[in-house]
Amino acid sequence: GEKNYFVGVADTDFAGDGERKMAQEAFGLVRGQLGRMYLPLIDGEYVQTQDVVESLNPSRFEEVVGKVGLASVEQAEMAMQAAKNAFPGWRKTPVSQRAGILRKAAELMELRRAELSAWIVLEVGKPVREADGEVSEAIDFCLYYAAEMERLNEGVSYDVAGEMNKYIYQGRGIAVVISPWNFPLAIAAGMTVAALVTGNCTILKPAEASSVIAAKFAEILVEAGIPKGVFQYLPGKGSAVGAYMVNHVNTHIIAFTGSQEVGCRIYADAATLKMGQKHMKRVIAEMGGKNGIIIDESADLDQAVVGAVQSSFGYSGQKCSACSRVIVVEAVYEEFVQRFVEATKSLNIGEAELPSTQVGPVIDDNARSRILEYIEKGKAESTLALEMSIPENGYYVPPTIFKDVPADGIIAQQEIFGPVVAVIKAKNFQKALEIANGTNFALTGGLYSRTPSHIEQAQADFEVGNLYINRTITGAIVARQPFGGFKLSGVGSKAGGPDYLLQFLEPKTVTENI
Ligand code: GLU
Repeated sequence: GEKNYFVGVADTDFAGDGERKMAQEAFGLVRGQLGRMYLPLIDGEYVQTQDVVESLNPSRFEEVVGKVGLASVEQAEMAMQAAKNAFPGWRKTPVSQRAGILRKAAELMELRRAELSAWIVLEVGKPVREADGEVSEAIDFCLYYAAEMERLNEGVSYDVAGEMNKYIYQGRGIAVVISPWNFPLAIAAGMTVAALVTGNCTILKPAEASSVIAAKFAEILVEAGIPKGVFQYLPGKGSAVGAYMVNHVNTHIIAFTGSQEVGCRIYADAATLKMGQKHMKRVIAEMGGKNGIIIDESADLDQAVVGAVQSSFGYSGQKCSACSRVIVVEAVYEEFVQRFVEATKSLNIGEAELPSTQVGPVIDDNARSRILEYIEKGKAESTLALEMSIPENGYYVPPTIFKDVPADGIIAQQEIFGPVVAVIKAKNFQKALEIANGTNFALTGGLYSRTPSHIEQAQADFEVGNLYINRTITGAIVARQPFGGFKLSGVGSKAGGPDYLLQFLEPKTVTENI
């Protein structure tokens, strides 16, 4: 196959004293700026809003990270108009210039790495190392999509004698990006710069809980030279502003990452032709998962235990790639459960900003209540193997393991998006694979095995977009593990992969008789 040319940037090595000191200083700097106001950016201007919400630190909810002005529907209309007016100029802007803005944004993010990561830690409760990895991912998206657009811009020529045939790509129009709070910088940046570099004018509506980080990203794009009107930052209510833009006649592309429920709604709304609409909309939706790791009798259990712990409890299970089912063959079931519980017990739970923290809080009070309800449901249908104790004064949920969970149980089927894992027993590998495939989702999956025939069969038959063998199932890296799923996990091609930008482009064939 084709060889990859792209190498991503390195994460911070926190083993170094200098690096640890820089991280500390960044928290000092960011703490000094807490509570400031962030306003929507429309047509190059920050505009006042009627509604303002506070974004709180989930580790310590008395701490206000920032105040965010929520755009009204009228302001969403202004943003759509600004985008429409800017499109003719932006689509004609040379690709080299558009890519240059992404590279500049990447450079600015690298310079502000420690600070951006501190904002992530404080606004969404993500532990420091994972926040740092997220800054790397955001930078990689900028650099990779810049290079990818330059590659695509070469087009294809199908010339024959007497006939010139060119195949070229053009921007489609207006892209609405609706980004999640769980990767508040990386995914917001990835979807946004993909839309921009392909020549679309873009409106970013971030999840409410991560509007401050999205505002930082907006600042960076402005500083990198994004022309006014080409990009708007539009914090607001999904049900009002998000829905308005999804349904708008001028919207061409909707790039969404979030829940299955909202994704399905967007897909349906986008499919309905509105009065005066002259094109069909395209939806890219990255939705949920109910990801399983299979452990067979030949697995290296040392590796499997560590991998299952990290995949399940990293960022408190709030990744769509997270492991929420471990499917273990009978022969090693008891031993695995015991060791999995022991290893999980050793996790440090606490404020995301402490260097020792491995599991922080969940995003907000709603999430906490929802997850706690699932824990009650788990208790009713299976056996509790571990429920840890948690700190007070933040939105904490105890890391929880259930065993002997029926494969069709509620906690084995519904996405919980929290630190709750269902361990399921399977007779053998074949049964384990059947159970693993027995959900509506197909996002990530894992296999711990040293049996070549099992590895081969998983490759062919495990219904997941990203299959990980003998390693953790989260932490996809740009242009190394292009990321995305199918079934009810989403529509569209993989982020950080070679097909991603095509979704934002309109191909055109030009034939000239010569
Ligand atoms: N790409 C991320 C990972 O592999 C998950 C993204 C998500 O949760 O939406 O861990």
